[in-house]
Amino acid sequence: MASDSATRFDFLVIGGGSGGLAGARRAAELGAATAVIESHKLGGTCVNVGCVPKKVMWNAAVHAEYLHDHADYGFEAGHAHFSWETLKAKRDAYISRLNHIYRSNLDKAKIETIQGLARFTDDPEPTVEVNGRKYTAPHILIATGGRPSVLSDNEVPGASLGITSDGFFELESLPRRSVIVGAGYIAVEMAGILSTLGSKTSLIMRQNGVLRNFDNLISTNCTKELQNSGIDLWKNSQVKSVRKTDTGLEVTIVTKDPEKKNEEEKLSTIQEVDCLFWAIGRVPNTSGLNLSEHLNVHLFNNFDFHLIFIGKESVKTYKTSFTPMYHAITTRKTECIMKLVCVGKEEKVVGLHMQGVGCDEMLQGFAVAINMGATKADFDKTIAIHPTSSEEFVTMR
Ligand SMILES: Cc1cc2nc3c(=O)[nH]c(=O)nc-3n(C[C@H](O)[C@H](O)[C@H](O)COP(=O)(O)OP(=O)(O)OC[C@H]3O[C@@H](n4cnc5c(N)ncnc54)[C@H](O)[C@@H]3O)c2cc1C
Repeated sequence: MASDSATRFDFLVIGGGSGGLAGARRAAELGAATAVIESHKLGGTCVNVGCVPKKVMWNAAVHAEYLHDHADYGFEAGHAHFSWETLKAKRDAYISRLNHIYRSNLDKAKIETIQGLARFTDDPEPTVEVNGRKYTAPHILIATGGRPSVLSDNEVPGASLGITSDGFFELESLPRRSVIVGAGYIAVEMAGILSTLGSKTSLIMRQNGVLRNFDNLISTNCTKELQNSGIDLWKNSQVKSVRKTDTGLEVTIVTKDPEKKNEEEKLSTIQEVDCLFWAIGRVPNTSGLNLSEHLNVHLFNNFDFHLIFIGKESVKTYKTSFTPMYHAITTRKTECIMKLVCVGKEEKVVGLHMQGVGCDEMLQGFAVAINMGATKADFDKTIAIHPTSSEEFVTMR
């Protein structure tokens, strides 16, 4: 039994991020008395320090990128001045508006918002405590998300002089010299944004390419495009130490040639760094929850997801790469790559990969088709919307 003093709900959600809010709203729609407990800001990672502010920065970088092409399109725009400060102020105001909207949507849906850090108690019935008050429900959703991994100064001396993606959104000015550590999507996106906005950027990775858990075509092309865009890639490298000097941070990097197993490691330094950014993964926010066996919760560490296709059916891939029409008259060029993965005699499409100008907006429609079981023949008989890049998907041979 929970303590008599516990407030009872039908459904209790710990974490007011994307997952928690979606769960709470569905439950409330079905008539459940629901509450959401949030320790920080409503909207969680996505709204406050993830997808949303990232996309604002990414959009800014798209503007910066297109500036290079203005002259080719006949514009004499002169020198464009970029103000990080203006962008940050507008971005912060937008996010603050979203926080309020999320709160008022919860109120409208009659979902109670409880502000504070939840922790399970040792009561026999699953119960959580927030700011000294107890809450219980027959169903408690743990949607506490994650936070950026950090290295301690014992692991890498001076590591704490760096920031993570959370700190990136607090930066008050554009760093002149950035060093990003990592090779996942956050590292890649942030390196691209910083570099495009004008920060001299280096990307340090342990292996020889970025996005190694993605399709090989994406990984290879993205590594190549990062290099083409002027980002200084340090492959097979790791940060050995970080030191503060009068002119910024001095980052010492150790590089190993994987081909020459016995060769000594090479040490290099990058000087005058004003933004060292660790993007080395994320850890789940579970440690403070007091999750114990009496709740029948079992935690699995180091879980990694891979898409493994098991079956006797044949797999066929179709690929294409081209320069998007946008670049027809620009000096600067980028590539667009596309790949379809089909299985069986009927060539059911099970995978679709793309990278290049406008790809973010193309994907969702194809996702609907794939979810409905589209085959390669369905793609082939779809009318091509011309001239677009996405038409390539329905004309691939
Ligand atoms: C820089 C960055 C860029 C990203 N870009 C994209 C993107 O473009 N597209 C995409 O799909 N995904 C992106 N993501 C990932 C996406 O943001 C997350 O997958 C998503 O936000 C996870 O949602 P969630 O609800 O599981 O967790 P979260 O959004 O992290 O929500 C968990 C909430 O729980 C709260 N909480 C934690 N512990 C407690 C507690 N004990 N008591 C009360 N509250 C607690 C936290 O404060 C937090 O608000 C990005 C992530 C980052 C960091």
